[in-house]
Amino acid sequence: MTDATPMISVQHAHRRFGTFAALDDVSLDIPRGQLTSLLGPSGSGKSTLLRAVAGLDDLDDGTVTIAGRDVTGVSPQKRGIGFVFQHYAAFKHMTVRDNVAFGLSIRRRPKAEIAKKVDDLLEIVGLAGFQHRYPAQLSGGQRQRMALARALAVDPEVLLLDEPFGALDAKVRAELRLWLRRLHQEVHVTTVLVTHDQEEALDISDRIAVLHQGRIQQVGTPEELYDHPASTFVMTFLGHVS
Ligand code: ADP
Ligand code: MG
Repeated sequence: MTDATPMISVQHAHRRFGTFAALDDVSLDIPRGQLTSLLGPSGSGKSTLLRAVAGLDDLDDGTVTIAGRDVTGVSPQKRGIGFVFQHYAAFKHMTVRDNVAFGLSIRRRPKAEIAKKVDDLLEIVGLAGFQHRYPAQLSGGQRQRMALARALAVDPEVLLLDEPFGALDAKVRAELRLWLRRLHQEVHVTTVLVTHDQEEALDISDRIAVLHQGRIQQVGTPEELYDHPASTFVMTFLGHVS
């Protein structure tokens, strides 16, 4: 694999539910190290596509390659990915610090290595002062920052985010965007963000893939999409920035 090999490559992905095509011949290459958003209205197939990349769901047809390796049939745990979903999953009985350390602890990494890694991540997500709290003692935004730190602790090659800020109010969402951008600048992990929020995608992404009715409508930088929408759908969808 060379640097030009896409970190994630989806080719001719099809996924049907009954007669309904949730993914209708989707092909998409996601470059290494970038933050790519999958943007589209509710029901456009974003989560289905992300789940296929994660290995949480199978395709009816098509392939998924991660870091040059065909991962068809490979379990999520063996794909080298970290996830963060809209509804955070944390161990309620563990402190913030122990939650972030969890993935390293079960891998039995040396204690000093775990401590250093967790310190660094808590610092980057602004939770150093909250490390001895329990998840219930954090705000929604702080919990999602903890979830990001936890997902990144094990050095995944790919970070997959499905509407991670969706349940939060606009002010907190805007703040989390800044944290995610900062995190991405520091850690450089290839990140795929699913969102239905045009403003969020335009603000944060290196590249955006626009989905509609299970098909990719356009892929490009925020500027390319905004200045040169390839279809009426893209123009209308991006035009409604709130
Ligand atoms: P998005 O994340 O863009 O909102 P999804 O990928 O979740 O969209 O869903 C795309 C379409 O596929 C939707 O119409 C949804 O109802 C349908 N769908 C998704 N998962 C299932 C499922 N397990 N069974 C039936 N239909 C599904
Ligand atoms: Mg979804």
